Amino acid sequence: MVTKIAASIITIGDELLIGQTIDTNSAWLAQQLNAIGVWVQHRIAVGDNAKDINDALDNAIAHNNIVIITGGLGPTSDDITKPLLCKYFGASLIQNEKVAAHVRAFFEKRNRPILDVNIAQANVPDNCTVLWNQYGTAPGMLFTKNDTIIISLPGVPLEMMDIMTTSGIAIIKSKFILPKVIHRTVATSGKGESFVAMMLRDFEKQLPQGLQIAYLPALGQLKIRLTGIEIADDIIEIQFEKLCKQLGHLVYASTDIKLEEAIAQILIQKNKTIAIAESCTGGNIANAFTNISGASIFFNGALVTYANDAKINLLDVQAADIDVYTSVSEEVTKAMALNAILKFKSNYALAITGYLEKPDANTDAYIWIAVTNGRDVKTIKHLIAYNRVKNKDLASNLALDFLRHFIIEN
Ligand code: ATP
Ligand code: MG
Repeated sequence: MVTKIAASIITIGDELLIGQTIDTNSAWLAQQLNAIGVWVQHRIAVGDNAKDINDALDNAIAHNNIVIITGGLGPTSDDITKPLLCKYFGASLIQNEKVAAHVRAFFEKRNRPILDVNIAQANVPDNCTVLWNQYGTAPGMLFTKNDTIIISLPGVPLEMMDIMTTSGIAIIKSKFILPKVIHRTVATSGKGESFVAMMLRDFEKQLPQGLQIAYLPALGQLKIRLTGIEIADDIIEIQFEKLCKQLGHLVYASTDIKLEEAIAQILIQKNKTIAIAESCTGGNIANAFTNISGASIFFNGALVTYANDAKINLLDVQAADIDVYTSVSEEVTKAMALNAILKFKSNYALAITGYLEKPDANTDAYIWIAVTNGRDVKTIKHLIAYNRVKNKDLASNLALDFLRHFIIEN
């Protein structure tokens, strides 16, 4: 039996306490630590206040093998973490030449004047190990006290994540014997959490000891994760295969990827392209596709035709169709898809129109989706019942789900 390695995450900043900045750092850090088998025992947010930071450090170091701190390393006067850590660990500040050169180059590259406070970022406590920050000027720092390691990171999420992935995780793995944790995630769309949980009732009952199942729902999507702690690879593999088989056509990927990424993979594999005609989703679907690296291989483009005139002028929808059927109708959505495929010369087109809010007191919000390959057209209507912004995401995911099935079948 491997002993538990416990960690505490301390995030620093007055802005966190008043909710002005949402503390995404500690959630992300907790996920990373959990994934490598570290037990996150505490997460605490404290203000830019020396006594509170000192107390949090005392408490965290006394009860944990690992303490991770983020924030307060910057050049501004409210950033007190570095001098505080220096005092706490009985060190004095010395300039790190490598960091100083990096800070100078950082400002030169951006053509910005360099101030003394900027160069001061290269001053680090003389008993810490510098953790390289390629995206910023405040380096990460590693300290040790009574067998506990303390890693201090900048608050800027991109910098914090990069330092943690490029050096923090490796340091933790090298210092501690961690339990073997395996996560396997299957991604599904089309059915909600409670429906899927019902489907998997018997599967859950027969899971061997040491295997846990978690449901991770998002709008129109559901990921299911199996976690094995100190369990043989083949045991989790057998169960994971069983799980995927039970979920059948709901599965869009047997890895932790987004729906649009799964569609991209299919399109690339089939050597096909897609075009989008969006109304209510306002470019959200195009945004999702263009977040994928290499999108130009499969994504021809999108038209956001929100107003009726835009649908008529840009997508050649017949004004008469809008008059007769209204803009949120099967007919108009169909026409948008069929005309998008022509305009963009793509192999497939997806179109969506809808109401993100109740169009009147007695009618629920709804959307129409159409997909085509130029010959066949398929349509579907969905009722959607969240608020405007959530409905937009839900509508986008419902459209992507419909598109995925169509592409596989046609
Ligand atoms: P910098 O050198 O940029 O000043 P820093 O280490 O001093 O970095 P802070 O000044 O505390 O960090 O925060 C920098 C930025 O990072 C701010 O925009 C802040 O809102 C954001 N940030 C800080 N802590 C967190 C956190 N826990 N979660 C998410 N964002 C955070
Ligand atoms: Mg700062």
